[in-house]
Amino acid sequence: MELCFATNNEHKLEEVKKSLARQIHLLTLQQIGCYEELPETTGTIKGNSQQKAEFVYSTYHVNCFADDSGLEVEALHGAPGVDSAFYAGPQKNHSDNVQLLLRNMQGISNRAARFITVITLVAGGKVFQFEGILNGRIVEVPRGENGFGYDPVFLPDGFSNTLAEMTLEKKNKISHRAKAIEKLTKFISGNPIVDG
Ligand code: IMP
Repeated sequence: MELCFATNNEHKLEEVKKSLARQIHLLTLQQIGCYEELPETTGTIKGNSQQKAEFVYSTYHVNCFADDSGLEVEALHGAPGVDSAFYAGPQKNHSDNVQLLLRNMQGISNRAARFITVITLVAGGKVFQFEGILNGRIVEVPRGENGFGYDPVFLPDGFSNTLAEMTLEKKNKISHRAKAIEKLTKFISGNPIVDG
C-alpha cells in the first residue's frame, strides 16, 4: 500500500524508509504532485503535525503522515518549543538559535529539557498520533560537530556525550524522532485501517 510522508527533508525520508515494513510504498510530496508549502500555524507541535497531515490528505486525497518536532526547556516554560527552528529569528540559523538559548539560560541551574516529536497519520480519513520524547539537559558549552539544531548543547539522560558527539547511527537509535517512528511503524504493520 502507498503512504505519503509529508516532509521535504531528505534525511527524515531516508530514516523512515529504513524502518518501514517492505509492504509500505513510501511516496514523497513531489510524487503526489505537492510543491506548495504546508501550513504550520496552530502554535503547537502536536497541532502543526496534525495540520500538515490533514492538509495533504484533504488536498491530495492520499493516506499520509507528517511530523513536527522541537526542544522544550523546563526553566523556560517549554520554550523554544514550536518556535525551535526560528527561535533567534526568521533566518532559521541553528548556531544563532543555540547561542540565544545559552544566553537565555545564563545563571539558571535547572537545565532539564526534552526533545519531542509528534507524528500524525491520516489514513482512511481517521487521525492517529504518535509521540516520541528524549529527556536530557542543556550543557553550558556546545560540544560536538555531528547532527543539527540543538544537538551540540543537548545531553541525553544516561549519556556522557551530547547528541552532536554521537554518530548519527547512535543518535537515531535513541532520538525522539526514532521513538515516534517506531510507534508509527508498529501501528502500520498489519493495521487494517491503513492497509484497507
Ligand atoms: P522539525 O519539526 O523536525 O523540522 O524540527 C524543528 C526544529 O526543532 C529544528 O529546526 C531544530 O531546531 C529542532 N530540532 C528538532 N529535532 C532536533 C534534533 O534531533 N536535534 C536538534 N534539534 C532538533
